[in-house]
Amino acid sequence: MHNSSRRKVKIVCTLGPASNTQEKIENLIRAGLDTARLNFSHGTHDVHRGLFEAVRAAGKNLGKHVGILQDLQGPKLRVGKIAAPGIQLKAGDEVLLFPEGTDPRSSTVGRIAIPISAEIAAPLSKDVRKGSRILFDDGKISSEVKEVHAPEMVVTITVGGKLTSNKGMNLPGTPLSLPCATDKDLRDLKLGLDLGVDSVALSFVRTPQDVLFVKEQIRKNSNHHPLLVSKIEREEAVYAPEGILEVSDGILIARGDMAVELGAQKVPIVQKMLIRMSNELGVPVITATQMLESMISCPTPTRAEASDVANAVFDGTDAVMLSAESASGEYPVEAVETMSKIVCEAESEEQYSVHANLVPMSGSIVDSIEFSASRIASHVGATAIACLTHSGTAARTLAKYRPQIPIVAIMDNEASLRKLAFVWGVEGVLIPELVATDDLFGMVGRVLVENHRAEEEDLIVVTAGVPSLGRGTTNTIKVHQIKSRNLAHGRT
Ligand code: PGA
Ligand code: MN
Repeated sequence: MHNSSRRKVKIVCTLGPASNTQEKIENLIRAGLDTARLNFSHGTHDVHRGLFEAVRAAGKNLGKHVGILQDLQGPKLRVGKIAAPGIQLKAGDEVLLFPEGTDPRSSTVGRIAIPISAEIAAPLSKDVRKGSRILFDDGKISSEVKEVHAPEMVVTITVGGKLTSNKGMNLPGTPLSLPCATDKDLRDLKLGLDLGVDSVALSFVRTPQDVLFVKEQIRKNSNHHPLLVSKIEREEAVYAPEGILEVSDGILIARGDMAVELGAQKVPIVQKMLIRMSNELGVPVITATQMLESMISCPTPTRAEASDVANAVFDGTDAVMLSAESASGEYPVEAVETMSKIVCEAESEEQYSVHANLVPMSGSIVDSIEFSASRIASHVGATAIACLTHSGTAARTLAKYRPQIPIVAIMDNEASLRKLAFVWGVEGVLIPELVATDDLFGMVGRVLVENHRAEEEDLIVVTAGVPSLGRGTTNTIKVHQIKSRNLAHGRT
């Protein structure tokens, strides 16, 4: 196994049938998994509960603070059940879309009747106009709306193909009135809160209000507050991301649906734009979908895929993600190992990475401290920067400045520590209690040496809130030389 301990960009792996036991998950963790994604577009609550518990057990067994990201399906539009082997559609065919579970009311003469999920039919038929485009199966089949008889719609196929059960639908160019969090999402969210997931991703976010609504649901229903990650995949979000970024704890560039909504040619620039904007605001960003797609059925990636992963690293992403590669592919462990190797290789040539050249926000003490700590560390040739932090904010803020040496977040709260599992470069170390002592910096030195992040005599940079170490008190930078005598009578 190659050494991925110095990797800065984190790896998010979707779990599924190919990674559904503690043992399989441990293998993924050894290969480089930092955050596990539970995809609520598939699977029952029992399945997700099982995955959740297996990840926690695996992380505990290997001593790694693995994050768990619950990905809510959102208002994904889907066709209903279609009898096997599916329906062959060709250009010019007329299709009647009707709510599943009802009998078509409009005439089916000369038309192919296809059910769509009942709860979306009515709102959808209000949002579309004659001429609106409706795509099926990741954009492989195209159609145009010919007539609307709410809740039914008649469309004409413009690009044909075979349509099978439950395939997705996309409506590029049509703003949708469907709520961003569906009833299913709220039920799923409740399970996530009960289990104690570390972060929640919301699909098809359109506006900041979508995000605030879910945050409010979390606040109302639980004392436990996971991070909220907005998935950027709809046109409305791509063209007005600022407000969404401001209220989100992270974003996920959901390139699959985005490519269908915008056209694949737009995705590379949108990716760069979103990563740059997130980096500038210090909002962690996950780049996702089809990164190593061919590894679903092949043990090696294509050159294009290797470049895709590396370019996300060069663009400045915090994390890269695997979907079916780790959830249902034949080579889940190989996919994670491959991803880790590509990331490490890309990071070894720092000159190619985009650097935002940030300056701290005026008036923010923690931002000034962490900015300066990263500068000082590089001037004095420090081995690592340690942040004594309760919530992890100091470490997350430091990561904005992309220091090349380890960022070690020293914390006493594992739940907060796991929330750093998709943040660029941050390595968490859990200590029993974060309290001020006479020998605070000596303690930090020992923790770094014990965790193989620094050696005796090394210079390290430490940031802390002195004297109390209380929440939100970061005010101090210390350049500290680790002394061997600190180790002799150190606490362990
Ligand atoms: P999904 O999100 O896999 O939940 O659809 C990612 C994407 O759309 O790219
Ligand atoms: Mn999606």
